[in-house]
Amino acid sequence: MSATSAKAAPSVYILTMGCAKNEVDSASMARSLKAAGYRMADDAAEADAVIVNTCSFIQSATEESIEAIFEAASLPRMEEGSAALIVAGCMPARYGDDLSEELTEARAFVPCSREDDIVAVVEGLVGPAEPAGNVPPDVAESAHTFAYVKISDGCDRFCSYCTIPFIRGRYRSFPYEDIRAEVAREVAAGTREIVLIAQDTGRWGDDLEGGRDLAWLVDALAEEFPDTWLRVMYLQPEGVTDRLLSVMAARENVCSYLDIPLQHVDDGILRAMNRTGNAAEFRALIERIEAAVPGVTLRTTLIAGFPGETEEQFEELLDFVSEGLFHYIGVFPYSREEGTRAYKLPGQLDEEEKAERAQILRDAADAACAPRIAERIGGAARVLVEGAEEDGQRFGRAQCQAPDVDGVTYVSHGEPGDIVDTVIADTLLYEMEGE
Ligand code: SF4
Repeated sequence: MSATSAKAAPSVYILTMGCAKNEVDSASMARSLKAAGYRMADDAAEADAVIVNTCSFIQSATEESIEAIFEAASLPRMEEGSAALIVAGCMPARYGDDLSEELTEARAFVPCSREDDIVAVVEGLVGPAEPAGNVPPDVAESAHTFAYVKISDGCDRFCSYCTIPFIRGRYRSFPYEDIRAEVAREVAAGTREIVLIAQDTGRWGDDLEGGRDLAWLVDALAEEFPDTWLRVMYLQPEGVTDRLLSVMAARENVCSYLDIPLQHVDDGILRAMNRTGNAAEFRALIERIEAAVPGVTLRTTLIAGFPGETEEQFEELLDFVSEGLFHYIGVFPYSREEGTRAYKLPGQLDEEEKAERAQILRDAADAACAPRIAERIGGAARVLVEGAEEDGQRFGRAQCQAPDVDGVTYVSHGEPGDIVDTVIADTLLYEMEGE
């Protein structure tokens, strides 16, 4: 009998800051690390390496990431030097070498573009692990009710307020085969809804051979995975093609849901943002969508207090919001980011004014959206059950509710992952209650 006892593989903890796109990147790093034999720790304090996957697209996100880095750096194992801190993602991409001078607590910096090298970085800091023979590479680790799948990275639009093109680089569509494999892995693990994300989903395929576009991609996935819901987020107005609307109208498993960031509706502000469109064009777009996809749910995001935004321009935005064209509206105060063109624009508003305008818009959005949600009372809905409250009350999401942003629907029965039929009995602002 051998007296040798197996040494446990080094463990890694990943803390994800920011948006769903970062969650996808963290999941991908975790998969690579597990395939290389590393264990994923449940507790940062126990881990041999802690990766903070940072967000820094606006100042407040950067500050939250810095706080998380300092918190990780103060863990006992970090202080005694027996664990390594790795800063990954958007912050190293945005700040480059400046960061290593500022954050001496970190042992390595891995920008988004180098996250494929994470295994080598971890190995260099905590030593090698035995490759795991028992993790099938084509099955996701654990079932969730929904999963985000990235279809591209980067952005070429250079909206004047946005740091993303500098952080994430130029637009790159991921090949269909990779997206399909990712969806198949999730579906095999029991995931019931796939949320397709990117900085700009509507451009998918532009840079690939073969003339495929987003409509083709969604149709192909919907055909191959008929029992899985598909949802498209972050679709710029130019990406709303008639072909995509037909796929959405024809396929039951493609959510009749569009998330179209408009950011503003005034011509002058949109030009200063380096974006296109105006209120009249957006109204026409919504009319076209509603004619093609009856019952469609619409979400948008808006920025309040862009440099030079006059009272009149703000009022125009407020009036547009009050028309009740959307079911869900995300409102953000303009964030002045160094390195962007808008940073240098005249007419910067003070923080208090921006926050006040954002709050006025949010209140107007709630007042305009609540009746749109209430229109669903009496209508049938299929609900993907996601969990239960402590008292046993089940909740989930209907196709008209995107994960993380649109609230939930309460239902009487079902287990996580079940899709149950209900009739909407009541609504309370964004929450819905099934019979
Ligand atoms: S489209 Fe989105 S990610 Fe691209 S530059 Fe504009 S705001 Fe940034």
